[in-house]
Amino acid sequence: MARDLEWRKKELSLDEVIAKYPDVPPIWVLKVDVQRRGVVYTKAAKDKIDPEIHQVNQGTIAGFRTTQDYAPESLILRDGSYLITNFDFDNTNPQRDPYVVDVVDDKIVITDQGKVLEEVSYWEKPDFYNKKASNGEPMSKYATARPQRIDISMCHWCHFWDTPGEGCKYCPMAPNFKKRGGTEERYDVKYIAETVKEAFKQKGRFSSIMLTGGSILSGKEILDDELDGYIELLQAIGENFKADRIPSQLISSAFNERQLEKLYNETKLLTYTTDIEVLNKERFEWICAGKANHIGYEEWKRRLYAAVDVFGRGNVSSGVVLGVELAKPGGFTDEEDAYNHVIEQAEEIISHGITLAANVWRTSPGAIFQNQDTPSLEYFIKTYRQFDILSHKYDCNPYTDDYRRCGAHPGMDLLRV
Ligand code: SF4
Repeated sequence: MARDLEWRKKELSLDEVIAKYPDVPPIWVLKVDVQRRGVVYTKAAKDKIDPEIHQVNQGTIAGFRTTQDYAPESLILRDGSYLITNFDFDNTNPQRDPYVVDVVDDKIVITDQGKVLEEVSYWEKPDFYNKKASNGEPMSKYATARPQRIDISMCHWCHFWDTPGEGCKYCPMAPNFKKRGGTEERYDVKYIAETVKEAFKQKGRFSSIMLTGGSILSGKEILDDELDGYIELLQAIGENFKADRIPSQLISSAFNERQLEKLYNETKLLTYTTDIEVLNKERFEWICAGKANHIGYEEWKRRLYAAVDVFGRGNVSSGVVLGVELAKPGGFTDEEDAYNHVIEQAEEIISHGITLAANVWRTSPGAIFQNQDTPSLEYFIKTYRQFDILSHKYDCNPYTDDYRRCGAHPGMDLLRV
């Protein structure tokens, strides 16, 4: 149950937002709101899981998550887009009531207050989840799967957290690594490469590979060790492919020109992403203090623009944690004010041909911001809608970050409309 029982009276409802923005698909508004409020599954919905067929999140403490029930990894909507629900929501003390996935007339549906809103299905398990690497460990340890994408994490710890106060305040990754007693920051690339090779034996399943991980600040120059780690990994994976470039995305710290050129020249990487996260300099410096102290807001943007020169227009994007600019006490206090500042920065970045891969900010257990309140649904819809208008204006191409390959950024879904 929501911690503020009156929350529905304080903001526009799903139906009211859909009515107010008739040019955006209602199913997309629901998708944004599910990511904002989270989901829980009824017993009937869990009984629909076939672990032989479906990808199951079995309550293991992994990556960004803490503990979860046996539940589907995530959902697919009727329009074929993904609804990613495996983020770590705080369902014991939620700001708002989560949506409920239930079974009605033998169909799996999303409901709210008993009203059926949409039919959904569960993600299927890839073949490699049943296989083991040559060291006997399950391959699912080395890579995870979205419906069309393989995800690899190079470093499970983020070294911004080595200095108190420097970790991004919305991010639960490093705190949860500590909480679960994690010691193995990185896995041997040999087993990751074996997993990718095996995964691509499943015909028609995967169309891209995404690599990411926590920041590594060490090296001759800052981030050199992170760069070398990704190059080693990309080279090992790249041996599985004959093409000069493979449909791949790296989400890393912001490399400088020398590092970007090395990355491009020594690997088959196709697209590059570095996450500015917060679209306002002052709020970035408060929320992402490590990024601000070691690189800086303006320099982060400058490196993004430099990446376009190396990887090409359409092959660079930046992640944003949309809504976190309204966190307390250092954030904007008014959604309209936040919107105006965010859009001004968004246009500057998008005008370079860079797509903004914006996540809906959720308050994750383990994060410094875990007990914060997130913005209204209308704020997200209005802002995403304007990102989409700007992306069309500057002819952006999300490619590896689009609704099929990634699916985590609802704003990208609009680019196909
Ligand atoms: S850079 Fe920030 S968002 Fe990324 S892993 Fe580190 S703390 Fe989390």
